[in-house]
Amino acid sequence: MPRDSFNREIDYLRISVIDRCNMRCVYCMPLEGLRFLPNPELLTPAEIELVVRAGVEVGFRKFRLTGGEPTLRADLIDIVERITRVDGVAGVAMTTNAMLLENLAQPLQQAGLARINVHLDSLNPDTVERQMRWGNFDRVWRGIMAAEEAGLTPIKLNAVVTAGYNESDVVDLARLTIERDWHVRFIELMPLGGGECATLSVKRYVSNIETRRRIEAQLGPIDELPTENLSDEARNYRLKGARGVIGFISPVSEPYCGTCNRMRLTADGKFHLCLLNDDELDVRRALRSGSGRELAEVGQILRRAVEMKPTGHHLLEGRSTRDRSMYQIGG
Ligand code: SAM
Repeated sequence: MPRDSFNREIDYLRISVIDRCNMRCVYCMPLEGLRFLPNPELLTPAEIELVVRAGVEVGFRKFRLTGGEPTLRADLIDIVERITRVDGVAGVAMTTNAMLLENLAQPLQQAGLARINVHLDSLNPDTVERQMRWGNFDRVWRGIMAAEEAGLTPIKLNAVVTAGYNESDVVDLARLTIERDWHVRFIELMPLGGGECATLSVKRYVSNIETRRRIEAQLGPIDELPTENLSDEARNYRLKGARGVIGFISPVSEPYCGTCNRMRLTADGKFHLCLLNDDELDVRRALRSGSGRELAEVGQILRRAVEMKPTGHHLLEGRSTRDRSMYQIGG
């Protein structure tokens, strides 16, 4: 397994397949002034497969597709089929807003996808429209139901808690775990990309300490669960007698950089070394070099990316990424 210079085992590659999205969440994408990658700049399914093959040779085992919104790629099924068939891949998951999942869940499962995380900030349709803007609660909910029926489980829901939007809706989201064996996770806002969404993310930040307090005040105490997987970014809890899990992902109030096991591949073919840092290594040039040694070259770049991975973020000193927002990195 590859280790970085801080002796962390890095074996998890998050692959962004597109920078476009069919939502405009207030903290992620502005309504105007966006410029997306032209298609020839996106990695093709064959190129993504080659990066995964190189990743497996370097020691990577876990892979996740993300975006932008991955379901907007017309060739998503091809991508999933190709990478789940690579020997040594221990599981492919996907992060999605589920708007297009109702029809895609079954084919994705048949193509080999194991699990999904669905981003849903509220169970209140009005809040969804305000906060996720182009999002539609009923469509997302139908997508989640289709995913569960297709066996893309355990279902994990991710909600980004945003002051003035959904900070009270966390109680209803947490309540879902009583009857359902889902994981409902609350994420702290991070400022990325330096634009209006980064400014909003600072102003509207809600710490998970506050979110936990709000949930416990309404639903009673939650018990911490033993950590099964050290690199799990969430601290996990359960309401008394509940079937599901409540998770807190707290990059700002409780950074987990010390156990980070992630590398990221952007849709335009860069290894992005740390979510909250601008350092990148280009891999697309090697993929398109025509040298006949692409697999070895990509493996070398990935090893270098692991060695160069930074140790921690600087959010509390007011520093974050300036070059890319979350939708351009792959959250
Ligand atoms: N479209 C997919 C989705 O909505 O999950 C995948 C990409 S999206 C960028 C991945 C995750 O990043 C979502 O859960 C989203 O809420 C989260 N995200 C975006 N901007 C964020 C920010 N500024 N702080 C924290 N999380 C953010």
